[in-house]
Amino acid sequence: MNTVVRYLKSLLLLELFQGLGVTMRHFFKPKFTIRYPEEKTPKSNRFRGLHALRRYPNGEERCIACKLCEAVCPALAITIDSTQRDDGSRRTTRYDIDLFKCIYCGYCEESCPVDSIVLTDLLEFHMEERVERVVSKQQLLAIGDRYESQIAANRERDAAYR
Ligand code: SF4
Ligand code: SF4
Repeated sequence: MNTVVRYLKSLLLLELFQGLGVTMRHFFKPKFTIRYPEEKTPKSNRFRGLHALRRYPNGEERCIACKLCEAVCPALAITIDSTQRDDGSRRTTRYDIDLFKCIYCGYCEESCPVDSIVLTDLLEFHMEERVERVVSKQQLLAIGDRYESQIAANRERDAAYR
């Protein structure tokens, strides 16, 4: 009997039509997919993407080379060298982040007493050479300069929850 039923199902293409029925049921429903990169999903204000070093509005870099971020980084991704300026303030001479080591935990941002190192919401970046995985102080400052308004706006929106 089972053999006959199976034979009839095959002959009448019942399973094919069942499958097409599922397709047609979902054809006119709202889509779960988007057309990336033209369309993008919303991101949290706390999204942890590419790092940046920020400056004060007068152009002075915020970082005071306290090295808290370097100490707290669980992946040992941050390398800092520092020196003392003539005015007695301390500044970094080197601030490198190895993006291959980084696990984007955000501890560096949380530990920074002057809101200098931050993780931006930039997720679309890439490297073409292996050496490019290490981003330097100048590159981090340039990212900060370019996206400062975006960084400040995200932090303001998130301030009530910090
Ligand atoms: S996000 Fe985490 S792993 Fe990456 S540099 Fe900061 S502390 Fe280190
Ligand atoms: S980025 Fe912040 S935590 Fe890291 S050395 Fe500079 S001031 Fe200290």
